Formats: sequence, structure tokens, C-alpha cells
Amino acid sequence: MKTSETLFAQAKKLIPGGVNSPVRSGSSVGVTPRFISHASGSMIYDADGRDYIDYVLSWGPMILGHAHPAVVEAIRAAAGKGTSYGAPTELETRMAAMICEAFPSVEMVRFVSSGTEATMSALRLARGYTGRDKIVKFTGCYHGHGDSLLVKAGSGLVTLGIPGSPGIPRALAELTISLPYNDQEAVRGTLDRWGDEISCLIVEPVAGNMGVVPPEPGFLQFLRKITREKGIVLIFDEVITGFRFTYGGCQNLFGIEPDLTCLGKIIGGGLPVGAFGGRREIMECLAPLGPVYQAGTLSGNPLAMSAGIATLEILKGSADQYKKIDADTASFCGALRGRLAEAGIAGRINRAGSMFTLFFTDREVIDYETAILSNTAAYAGFYREMLALGIYLAPSQFEAAFVSFAHTSEDLGKTLEACDKALKRL
Ligand code: PLP
Repeated sequence: MKTSETLFAQAKKLIPGGVNSPVRSGSSVGVTPRFISHASGSMIYDADGRDYIDYVLSWGPMILGHAHPAVVEAIRAAAGKGTSYGAPTELETRMAAMICEAFPSVEMVRFVSSGTEATMSALRLARGYTGRDKIVKFTGCYHGHGDSLLVKAGSGLVTLGIPGSPGIPRALAELTISLPYNDQEAVRGTLDRWGDEISCLIVEPVAGNMGVVPPEPGFLQFLRKITREKGIVLIFDEVITGFRFTYGGCQNLFGIEPDLTCLGKIIGGGLPVGAFGGRREIMECLAPLGPVYQAGTLSGNPLAMSAGIATLEILKGSADQYKKIDADTASFCGALRGRLAEAGIAGRINRAGSMFTLFFTDREVIDYETAILSNTAAYAGFYREMLALGIYLAPSQFEAAFVSFAHTSEDLGKTLEACDKALKRL
């Protein structure tokens, strides 16, 4: 039988690090990555014949659980009609209508094939629209691997201790200003100084890529107000948060209308999709209507659109399920806090709806500086114990755990018991 170890050894000969996305390598938690054979509902199965309750959920997309029958059927039906045409289909307009209805700030939308493409394109559009070059982002937020956005980014970069990335031209990096999350004064100071050179400010409205860090009360409202005053395009990167907490985005919950919104993950139902959309006046700057160029051979791909439509159709009627996973995650996190206290371990749990992070620190985590105070060796030990107990977490301290509609009370109960054992063994 092929094991994850043998498969990883083969992969490493042909694929850099043996993986096609760095955090998958498991290097920061000292494990060989599990090679997956299949997944269903809340469960994921490795090549070694072991099963796990999955809290990675493909890094967020699988809110319905894996291999949901309606999504699988939609993909199957679409595949039978041809997998790509490079020409428009009605599916794209249907999906666009669903996105525009769910996000009142989005009057027009364009589909791409990943979250990275969505943020890269939104940035170019904001620059083209304003005629300004600088951008503002927040340290520890991750917006995909576009050059301008990899400066002081979260996710794999913080996991692997990489401050930026060679290969990004200095001239481009100099146009990116990275500020502390939740710090209104830093934003005000920067915008007062450079406001008329800044094209856009991009933010994860609930940060998920330095672990979960919710916005402090008033932070997002402040960003909306000050960007409007300065004529700066406000971009909400809702690649993780879109359809995660409600049918729509964080912006619906906070009552804020950004100028542009980036989406991905959940809207593809597990297929490669991204989207960016927003105010008509800005979106009309895109080619072929306007001069800002953006394109894609597989953009609006019929399989991806079909999986996305099937997913959104289910989510639309799932207000109760959203409430349930929110409440289940809240009570799980509450119980976990109790177990941490019993085990005498310094830990902070940040939660937003159905996503959470257990940080191994005794300090409140409100931004990148406080997130990186976490004891990553303790997380690595916890991760390995949990994996051995059949719980599949992100192989990094600085990521979110996600709960899906498919997670049962029994799953969460088993996970809590596993946490209890793992914490006592640390
Ligand atoms: N934006 C956010 C908030 C993300 O979390 C990610 C990926 O994790 C991206 C953008 C990039 O998306 P993708 O990995 O699909 O390119």
C-alpha cells in the first residue's frame, strides 16, 4: 500500500517541496503531510487508510461539507456538456445575479479562477480608476500571492517565517504600505500624509490569515469613512468571509458598502473560482468597456459556475444552518476555553461565527504583532497530538479552523475530547 510517507517522497522529487501550496507541507508543525484519498461530509481520508474530522475544509470553501450530493451532481451534469468553451454561457449571468443580489454593494461582477486573481485584478482596477499607484494593506492579512500584496502578508508567509518574497521588484514593493490591523491612528496618519497618492485600501473584514482576528468595534466603519473622504477605493477581501457567516458577506453584517469586493473559496463549491465586483462606475473601467485590461481562458468556467450555483442555492435557504454552526462553534470554543484552563495552558481563542483559532499565548490577539507572540512549538505539539487522535487541523498556528454544515454535535464532542487529551499531553 502507498502511504503518505512514500507518496510524499515521490512528490518531492518532482514538485518543489512536494506540494503545490507551501503551507500544505506541514514543515512548521513537523509532520509529513497527509496525502488525501477522498473526503465526504465532515470527514477526510488519507492514503494510509485513516480518517479525520476535517476543520481545514480545503482552507474554507467546503461549507456544505465534502462531496455534497447536489454539488457533485451539478458538476457531473455540467461536465457531460463539455468542460470549457471560451465563450459566454447563461450560467455566468445566473451566478452574477446571485452574487449581486447577495452583496448589495456589488452592481457588476467579473469571474476569475482564484482568489489571487480576484485581488490582483481588483488592485489593477483601483489603480486604473484612480490613476494612483500606492496601495494600503494590513500586516498579517493575506490576499493571495500577487506581487503588490505579498508585502508583510499572513498565511504561509508567517507560517514559514518569510517576511516578503524575493522576486518582487523593489519598485513595486515600495508602492505597498502595510499597516497594523485594527489601528485607526496608523491609518489616519498614513492617509493624511499620502492620501492623494493612494489608489486603494484592501482589508480582510475579519482577518483569517494570521489566525482569526476580528475587527475591533468601529474599525471597518472608520475605514469606510476615511477612504470615502480621501477618494480611495475601499476593497473588502471576502475570499474567506463571503458566504461564511451569512448569505452574503461581512459587509452585510456590518452594514458597510465597500467600493469593491473580492470573492473566492465558497462561491466555487470546491472548484477553482474567484470573483471581484462592486460599483458600476468602477467596474465599467474594465476591458472591453474601459481601458483596464483583465482576462482569463477559464474565467467563468461552466463546471465552476455550476458548482457555485448549486452551493449558493443551498446556502440561500440555510439561515437556520448558519445560526446553528455559529452557535455550535461558540459553545465548542467556550468548552475549549474551560479545558485550557483545566490543563493550565496559556491560550486565547478568537472566534468569528463558524471560524476560530486557538492561539497559544496569554495575550489578547488583535493584530499581527500580538498573533506572532504565540508559542508555535506548543501549537506544533498540539497539532501532532490532534492528528494522531483523528482531528485534521491547519498545519499552522496562523490559520483558521472552519466548521461546516456537515459537522455534527458528535463530531464536535469527539473533537473536544481529543483537545482535552492533546492539551494534557503537552
Ligand atoms: N484572499 C484571502 C482572504 C485568502 O484567504 C486567500 C487564500 O487563502 C486569497 C485571497 C487567495 O485565494 P487563492 O488561494 O484562491 O488564490
